[in-house]
Amino acid sequence: MADRNISIPIRQLFIDGEWREPVKKNRLPIINPATEETIGDIPAATADDVDVAVEAARRALAGEWGSKTGAQRAKYLRAIASKVKERKLELGTLETFDSGKPWAEADADMDDVAAAFEYYADLAEALDSKQKTPIPLHLDQFKSYVLKEPLGVVGLITPWNYPLLMATWKVAPALAAGCAAILKPSELASITCLELGEICRDVGLPPGALNILTGLGPEAGAPLAYHPHVDKIAFTGSAATGSRVMTAAAQLVKPVSLELGGKSPIVIFEDVGDLDIAAEWTIFGCFFNGGQVCSATSRLILQESIAAEFLDTLLKWTKNIKISDPLEEGCRLGSLVSRGQYEKVLKFISTAKSEGATILYGGQRPEHLKKGYFIEPTIITDITTSMEVWKEEIFGPVICVKTFKTEEEAIELANDTQYGLGAAVLSKDSRRCERLTKAFQSGIVWVNCSQPTFCQPPWGGKKRSGFGRELGEWGLENYLNIKQVTQYDSNNPWGWYKSPTPSKM
Ligand code: NAD
Repeated sequence: MADRNISIPIRQLFIDGEWREPVKKNRLPIINPATEETIGDIPAATADDVDVAVEAARRALAGEWGSKTGAQRAKYLRAIASKVKERKLELGTLETFDSGKPWAEADADMDDVAAAFEYYADLAEALDSKQKTPIPLHLDQFKSYVLKEPLGVVGLITPWNYPLLMATWKVAPALAAGCAAILKPSELASITCLELGEICRDVGLPPGALNILTGLGPEAGAPLAYHPHVDKIAFTGSAATGSRVMTAAAQLVKPVSLELGGKSPIVIFEDVGDLDIAAEWTIFGCFFNGGQVCSATSRLILQESIAAEFLDTLLKWTKNIKISDPLEEGCRLGSLVSRGQYEKVLKFISTAKSEGATILYGGQRPEHLKKGYFIEPTIITDITTSMEVWKEEIFGPVICVKTFKTEEEAIELANDTQYGLGAAVLSKDSRRCERLTKAFQSGIVWVNCSQPTFCQPPWGGKKRSGFGRELGEWGLENYLNIKQVTQYDSNNPWGWYKSPTPSKM
């Protein structure tokens, strides 16, 4: 169980393997969203610090870090995983202090962090044997092979909903590929990302291989995106910021990968079977992490014939969710991450009401919690497809319900969104599930469940949910330059031009 007495470490920026005060010496407060108390502060980087970090990263690439093999890099990744495991209780508790998420969820996040570092250690090792793979050609006198090289210095910009885990989804493959990285976590939750710096020091990661710059988006993130010596930006966050990052990167034709928001559907058919099982997946799909999940299945698309009975079951499960101090045993819904997010979610709910929707359950601060940014799990019905709550990503514990009669209608409703990250279908008819799987305009499909995520399959979306894939081997490819090497392997002249010395022909 969490230890409430764990103190917040005082850290600086992590640059070139050491803690450095920001050039402008600014700091930002850390607010525990479950208590609204200021519990510490983080350094606030600006463009000057970005310059220093980029130089350190370039030196690392040209020096010790750049000379490591995949197998050698794997050792560092495994050592990081093992330190995360060793400090799991502390890191999970710090994550809860910072984000307001239930401690059990933060604890599970730390398992996922360690697992991702281990997984990419394996991939780093395997990379060595994938070098110089021959490419068969139709001309015998040529030989061709491919080198998989680190892309260079990469900027990794991440959000607050899974602070250390989202950072890990980028840091682990970037280091596995041999890149030198600069991580810019969200200013709303940076504690555990800074602790990753301490872990890198502990395991002796070569200086500059990973640099961590905390600070505000426009002050620390934007200069990274615009920096001429950053070779790629991997971004996870909102569509609006993603568009800004892409615009910045476009000035230098810098590659970007974008993991953006979502408004994912969960479609439940009358042949779903056990309604309790379906109800649990529905609440897990939308209320886990307080609904602050990019892939949250926040649009419930329900077959009309079971709608009344299913909503009764859903209500029963929703009322049973323990909403409390996130460090309390059994908590399943903590606070939202910040006052800003809390107000934004409440505004979505009040707009839905004013547009004529029905708040079937929740919609406000729970009576028993007087402080902290808590919102009850909320179910909204009587929705039209033109309403804001149907169209916009809420990023809170709010599910919007619409019913359908036919499968065609269900598909149309499911795809009625500018986003395309996840989608779920629940039905006992496997052919129907396959049809829906094909029809969903999304990068991820869950069948008879919603949200389980593993590090081996790819992660990412289409439409306005972004492009590029994280996790799995695709996550590693994000950070590799694929270099074609073609060699002329013959003693004969090429013979395209007429030789000036004919005797040689
Ligand atoms: P955000 O866009 O506000 O911020 C994300 C990051 O970008 C932060 O580190 C922020 O400081 C930085 N940033 C802000 N302005 C910037 C600028 N001008 N230039 C460069 N960087 C800048 O997003 P958020 O509120 O932290 O996170 C929530 C969003 O993230 C949601 O939309 C959610 O769906 C999305 N998300 C997506 C995924 C995915 O895998 N697709 C995963 C998690 C979260």
